[in-house]
Amino acid sequence: MQSEEFRKRGKEMVDYIADYMDKLSLRRVTPEVEPGYLSQLLPKEAPKKPEEFNEIMHDVDKAIMPGITHWQHPNFHAYFPAGNSYPSILGDMLSNAFGCIGFSWAASPACTELETIVLDWMGKMIGLPKEFLHEDGVGGGVIQGSASECVLVALLVARHLAVRQLKSRLPYTEDGILLSKLVAYSSKLAHSCVEKAGMIGFVKMRQLDVDENFALRGSVLERAIEEDRRLGLIPFFVSGTLGTTACCSFDNLAELGEICSNERIWFHVDAAYAGNALICPEFQHLLKGIENVNSINFNTNKWLQVNFDCSLFWVKDKDTLTTAMTVDPLYLQHKHSDRAIDFRHWGIPLSRRFRALKLWFVLRTYGVDGLQHRIREHCRLAKLFETLVATDPRFEVLGKVTMGLVCFRLKGSNYLTQRLLKFTNESGQLHMVPALINEHYVIRFAICAESACDEDISFAWKVITKTATEMLAARLS
Ligand code: PLP
Repeated sequence: MQSEEFRKRGKEMVDYIADYMDKLSLRRVTPEVEPGYLSQLLPKEAPKKPEEFNEIMHDVDKAIMPGITHWQHPNFHAYFPAGNSYPSILGDMLSNAFGCIGFSWAASPACTELETIVLDWMGKMIGLPKEFLHEDGVGGGVIQGSASECVLVALLVARHLAVRQLKSRLPYTEDGILLSKLVAYSSKLAHSCVEKAGMIGFVKMRQLDVDENFALRGSVLERAIEEDRRLGLIPFFVSGTLGTTACCSFDNLAELGEICSNERIWFHVDAAYAGNALICPEFQHLLKGIENVNSINFNTNKWLQVNFDCSLFWVKDKDTLTTAMTVDPLYLQHKHSDRAIDFRHWGIPLSRRFRALKLWFVLRTYGVDGLQHRIREHCRLAKLFETLVATDPRFEVLGKVTMGLVCFRLKGSNYLTQRLLKFTNESGQLHMVPALINEHYVIRFAICAESACDEDISFAWKVITKTATEMLAARLS
């Protein structure tokens, strides 16, 4: 494709995208296809001869669109929001056009430098202490591909430090033996990526009980550490959560951080979703205890109108990170290596997309005010939904509604709520997913759409209550 055709097709594509967004509400939220549907519609081999662009777009409509789950649909309330916005799409488009692979400063200076600048902007916006900022020179932030990657990197850094420290005391002990002694902690409600990080990192991961507010507390961690030390194990890593996936509960950072600091344990905070809300000063009290945190992450691609992937990760001491992650072959070195940041030493992959660009577009287009407004709107709509649930005695809300998530259920057996979710989702009018909180099956209602409004909430509640009424009547008849 040459630039003349690209100009034409690009403009058509922008129209196609805008039409798709404008008319999203006319579609079912979820597709009705069965596994393997696409292989029935597409050829078994790649085309030998070039095909026309129109034919490709025809197949997008015919074959791809029927299998799309519409995450940007106003009635999509599953998981957490998948951030999106036109400025983000445009920023990413430009990043794709530059096509630079910014693994080092020299590989594309703007790519590295914009990343440090927007990470400092974001760090200040959420109220991180200056130690976490590039400006200060000790710590800094970096964009990773996902929250899972951030948690894994944090655990690997902590593991590296722990093994190095043990090695200095026990130089002749095998790494494998030292590794077998390491133990990490999170709450039972931590995201599964924490357990996975332990699995990949080949260390024990203990999942601790939460209190009545679904928070991990210091006393529980303290007891677990004591037990493990008595068994000869070496606690080295704690992952606390701000905004658990199941019910958006908050671990007590102040209590956990103090213990980690006293015990010389790496304390990571996974704030994948809720971290975005910290741009609003009224939520920044949740960072109480941040002075004892070693690293923190959140996904702007969840709730800050930036499309996937754009997961922000900060460390208080960047040397701990780069020491654990640096491998430095000659072909990647450059003349400014000693005074410029090479983000390849800040994570797992070598190649990195220019993701800071879309974040920068979003920050500039909406400003902090605009982004705060969206977060507050989502929180207000979640409260509105909570109020609606409270008006119907058949239902109950579980957990506190602090941000844009409401966990609710039909009173009675889990089976009832399970059926309600099944019937509601099958209608294709709404999409929600469940969670298990203290053995209670709940439906998670997340406010997701960029322009979510009161009407979407009343529509959702109407669909849910109508489905419940029909389901309960059918059980009685
Ligand atoms: N941590 C929390 C608290 C989450 O809610 C999620 C996903 O929703 C994750 C981690 C995993 O995020 P990612 O898909 O970016 O790995």
